[in-house]
Amino acid sequence: MRIFCDFDGTIAKVDTTDLVLTRLADPAWEDLEERWTRGEITAAECMRGQVALIGGDDAALDAVLDSVELADGFSEFVAWCRANAVPLTVVSDGVDHFIARILDRHGLGHLPVIANHLVGNAELGRRLEQPWSRAGCAAGSGVCKCQVATKSAEASQGRVNDPGDLMVFIGDGRSDFCVSNRADLLFARDKLAAYARSRAVPHHAFSDFHTITTTLAAAHGRLARRAAI
Ligand SMILES: [Mg+2]
Ligand SMILES: [Zn+2]
Repeated sequence: MRIFCDFDGTIAKVDTTDLVLTRLADPAWEDLEERWTRGEITAAECMRGQVALIGGDDAALDAVLDSVELADGFSEFVAWCRANAVPLTVVSDGVDHFIARILDRHGLGHLPVIANHLVGNAELGRRLEQPWSRAGCAAGSGVCKCQVATKSAEASQGRVNDPGDLMVFIGDGRSDFCVSNRADLLFARDKLAAYARSRAVPHHAFSDFHTITTTLAAAHGRLARRAAI
């Protein structure tokens, strides 16, 4: 079993990028958001433009980030993954620095994070690099989550017959659509749950991480028993 988990709206209770933009960016960020909604620019282009509009010094940015709370049960969920040697990767179309700072403040800075990369600072200006983008990604995201999850599955080719090599995905939003069809076990809320329902993609609805841990512990136990036969 390997787990990939979205960040904004899934691990973080709010969308961190939207919060930072609302508090610190030139209002023109909303024009970009509308152009994206109308399909005139991709999500990746939208994010790059918006991050360049973030004002405020690093202390102001940190103060906004330090107000973000994590979903109920997430720390316990991370502890369960660790205790059961289940790899957990945060895969986000958000901003790496924002995520790292928030996780670190909750004692979870050790988690691997795949996200857009923030460069620069208040004096030099901020900009976003997108090393995980993929031309032709249906989601048009800065981070192509389906590619990330597929590559990781290929990396474990030798274990392809291992019943334990189940790909679990947890998410809530549009950037999770492309990867959701590929998950062996999908946990979805909000827009992602509506999307999964509309496509008849099997999924578990969730509101916090306690229910996810309970469901995964049962699935993990079944896999372990099967592997022992
Ligand atoms: Mg999200
Ligand atoms: Zn994609």
